[in-house]
Amino acid sequence: MNNIQQTLSIIKPDAVERNLSEEIKNEFKNNNFDILKEKKVKISKSEAEKFYQVHQTKPFYNDLCEYLSSGPIVVMILERNEAVTENRKLMGATDPTKAEEGTLRKKFGISIDKNSVHGSDSLENAKKEIDFFFKD
Ligand code: UDP
Ligand code: MG
Repeated sequence: MNNIQQTLSIIKPDAVERNLSEEIKNEFKNNNFDILKEKKVKISKSEAEKFYQVHQTKPFYNDLCEYLSSGPIVVMILERNEAVTENRKLMGATDPTKAEEGTLRKKFGISIDKNSVHGSDSLENAKKEIDFFFKD
């Protein structure tokens, strides 16, 4: 049974800076994701704080928001069957040293904070995150 979903993906500053955007986009395409929309943006720290609001009590929250707003990012709406789960699988574990072979974070991630990609963790959050970046 098909369950076509949309999810939000972000190519984070560390990967954009290393010119990995095209290579990462090809990884999505090769894994049957359609990139419905994409844009390159630089967000402010207060926008990052809003985006990562769920993490506001975490010790890494401030650094995380500084980081996401430190340089250009590429945000994309990805679509495929079971997009949310399939994207999380393709990304791999949050910590690149723990990510499985073949995953994006294993291939491209530098560290737990500079882990190259973000992906929505549920369908509900995917909708919110897509709205955050693409609601006109
Ligand atoms: N993060 C961090 N230190 C940690 C845990 C997470 O810097 O100990 C950063 C990391 O960039 C991660 C983001 O915070 O991608 C969001 O954390 P989450 O637990 O939601 O991981 P994800 O969903 O991105 O795998
Ligand atoms: Mg998360």
